[in-house]
Amino acid sequence: MTRKDIVNILIIIVLIISIGLMVAKKEKDDFLNLSYEYINTKDMAITDISTKKDNTNIIDILFKGVDNKGVLVEKELPVYQKSQVLNTQRRVWYLPTEVGTISQYPVYNHVAYDIYSPRGVNETIFPIANGVVSGMYRDAAGANIVTIAHNVNGINYTSQYVHLAAYASGLYVGKEVTINDAIGQMGSTGMATGVHLHIAVVDCKLFDSNDPNCRDLNGFFNYANRRLNEGFNGLGSVMNLSGSWNNR
Ligand SMILES: [Zn+2]
Repeated sequence: MTRKDIVNILIIIVLIISIGLMVAKKEKDDFLNLSYEYINTKDMAITDISTKKDNTNIIDILFKGVDNKGVLVEKELPVYQKSQVLNTQRRVWYLPTEVGTISQYPVYNHVAYDIYSPRGVNETIFPIANGVVSGMYRDAAGANIVTIAHNVNGINYTSQYVHLAAYASGLYVGKEVTINDAIGQMGSTGMATGVHLHIAVVDCKLFDSNDPNCRDLNGFFNYANRRLNEGFNGLGSVMNLSGSWNNR
């Protein structure tokens, strides 16, 4: 073997290792970037994305969340972003709009996501999970708000949808809603600089006097801030939320 042969063999070995690393990285990226953009049907169930470490048929994995009657089953998701401190279990919810872009993420005193849609007031808002409408009210600034109570595996959550242009007809407090039931239209009522949805999710039951964490709006807000400090930032804590999407 000449010196040139050895160099060639070394080059080939380096190439093989590089390709291997690229494939491994791509798989890792696919796993981490898996998001609602891939979950583009409303009939899709809660998804155990943490099991998708390979590229096996994603549809199979998605439908594991439907029981034999076709009812959605919400599944526990283990924490997979180890850098995050989470005091609640990670799980996946549905997006509240069919089209959207996140224009603001949760920060102190804004413990919510703002979602913009090019459809404006034509964008219909849906619950992020099945639940019961717990509130329909107008805040001091005039924002139309809907809250929905969810119980997922024994944990209470409240999702809050703010700035609605209008409530869906036939909506009332106490009504059971699914992820396919419209609750209103995106709007700019209240303190808003433009048409968008402000959506907060907190692991407590708003308007439940038995829940001292958030028995009222103030409690909800304060608790959300506290939970944000602890690593719970609503949808971002509970799903791998993509920055934009084209289909719910
Ligand atoms: Zn907001």
